[in-house]
Amino acid sequence: MESSKSKSKHKKERVVILGSGWAGYAVARTLDPAKYERVVVSPRSYFVFTPLLASTSVGTLEFRTILEPVRRLPQVDFFQGWADDVDFDTKMVRVEVNTSSDMGSQTVIPPPPGQATENPSKKGDVFDLSYDKLVIACGSYSQTFGIEGVRQHAHFLRDIGDARRIRLRVLSLFELCSYPSGAGLLTDDDKRTLLHFAIVGGGPTGIEFAAELHDLIYDDLARLYPDLLRFVRIAVYDVAPKVLPMFDQALAKYAMDTFARHGIDVRTEHHLERLRPADGDLGSRHGALRIKVKELGDDEVGAGLVVWSTGLMQNPLVAKLTGKKLSAAGGTGEAGQRLATDVRTGGLVTDAYLRARTTSSEGNDSAAGAGAPPAAAGRLLEDVFVIGDCAILENDPALPKTAQVASQQAIHLAKRLNRGDVSGKPFAFRNWGTLTYLGSWKAIHQSSADELKGWVAWVIWRGAYLTKSMSVRNKILVPVYWAISWLFGRGISRF
Ligand SMILES: Cc1cc2nc3c(=O)[nH]c(=O)nc-3n(C[C@H](O)[C@H](O)[C@H](O)COP(=O)(O)OP(=O)(O)OC[C@H]3O[C@@H](n4cnc5c(N)ncnc54)[C@H](O)[C@@H]3O)c2cc1C
Repeated sequence: MESSKSKSKHKKERVVILGSGWAGYAVARTLDPAKYERVVVSPRSYFVFTPLLASTSVGTLEFRTILEPVRRLPQVDFFQGWADDVDFDTKMVRVEVNTSSDMGSQTVIPPPPGQATENPSKKGDVFDLSYDKLVIACGSYSQTFGIEGVRQHAHFLRDIGDARRIRLRVLSLFELCSYPSGAGLLTDDDKRTLLHFAIVGGGPTGIEFAAELHDLIYDDLARLYPDLLRFVRIAVYDVAPKVLPMFDQALAKYAMDTFARHGIDVRTEHHLERLRPADGDLGSRHGALRIKVKELGDDEVGAGLVVWSTGLMQNPLVAKLTGKKLSAAGGTGEAGQRLATDVRTGGLVTDAYLRARTTSSEGNDSAAGAGAPPAAAGRLLEDVFVIGDCAILENDPALPKTAQVASQQAIHLAKRLNRGDVSGKPFAFRNWGTLTYLGSWKAIHQSSADELKGWVAWVIWRGAYLTKSMSVRNKILVPVYWAISWLFGRGISRF
């Protein structure tokens, strides 16, 4: 049953957009309001500028400087909730409302199938919403590879609530360790455990977080807690033989040399096998963790904070949708089809025009993510588009899961819809290069035109993120906060 928005009252075609991330927000912003009624459904009420998330988690930037409220988009309707299901035959989205601000703003990894969740929450009310065109842009979830304890004890860095929790934890750990050592109090060994910051994942996100954390500790906290520096250790763990695999050898080496000078420990070919609370008070009262690493045998490593920054997995909505059989009325003209997925990544397969591809339900999914062409070309859902991290383009399956790709797909799709000829021009990705911040005003930048490192790359890093910030408000606020942090130090209040 549809809510207040009745299908019969449509004056313009209604485009329902699932997600307010890089892909969803950019589609909503670029679609022409004169041509389309735009409705965004997302569990969170804002867009997050993810490349600057690590800066907010250490207080270089304030949280609101990287957020854009969806309701500020003129003439865009917004429903805060999860798309729970889609009926492609009747063109209806079932929405589960989200009235809890926390639930949509921090990473919650669902338990494996068949396992009860630790915090069962009441299911929200649901309502149905009709669409003429549907844009699925719900992104992906963090992948824990089923490693024991990661889902419960690691911190993730994907949304603003995650950044707030990390900032609070880092600052609290320093405060906790600032009391004198002694009988009944924390020992030096306990402090060494609590001030070990372990980052799992040596991609740009993990490396940038390590760099930003280093800046916070050595630029700001060192002055406030000088006696604690001898206990501090920042370590990056990765299973691969080298970190930053998307950068060429020379730039990756520069990054590692910079980290070595900063005292950041990089442990490649280390396989994390388990994460659990430390024994006794240290674990139960102070939240210390024990990490089991395959290469270290039975010796567990203690840590006060583990930030998990590796791997993506299928959004549960996508998993649900791919299990559904479509009827002939569902737009393909052939009963028994279902949405095609990429077997490796779980992404929804699209044609070059970003339309959802279907396949026969016997299972003709593609191994597109592995670089192979799709197994069978199936049919298309003409009015259903998939973009961003949850999509796999069949003619360019190796596209990275990045904001660059998601926003370019969104703008391409919205512009084609505005022109009314979706199949007029296929999507083509333009790579603007890859940037990673290394701390202490140094970065690396790699593109087809150049390879830059050090201070010059850092200037490009800041310039790129500033120009890509969405609103004028944030284009002003971000440099103001950069200047404030530089002049007066980072925000270290705990709340
Ligand atoms: C810390 C960090 C730093 C990064 N840095 C960079 C960088 O420097 N450069 C770069 O190119 N990329 C970067 N990325 C990657 C980039 O952020 C992602 O590739 C990008 O966010 C993908 O956009 P998306 O819109 O597909 O998904 P997301 O941005 O993840 O958005 C998904 C949206 O869908 C919503 N949603 C989820 N489930 C549902 C549902 N059932 N119904 C409705 N809505 C739903 C979510 O709440 C969210 O609003 C970074 C990522 C992180 C986490």
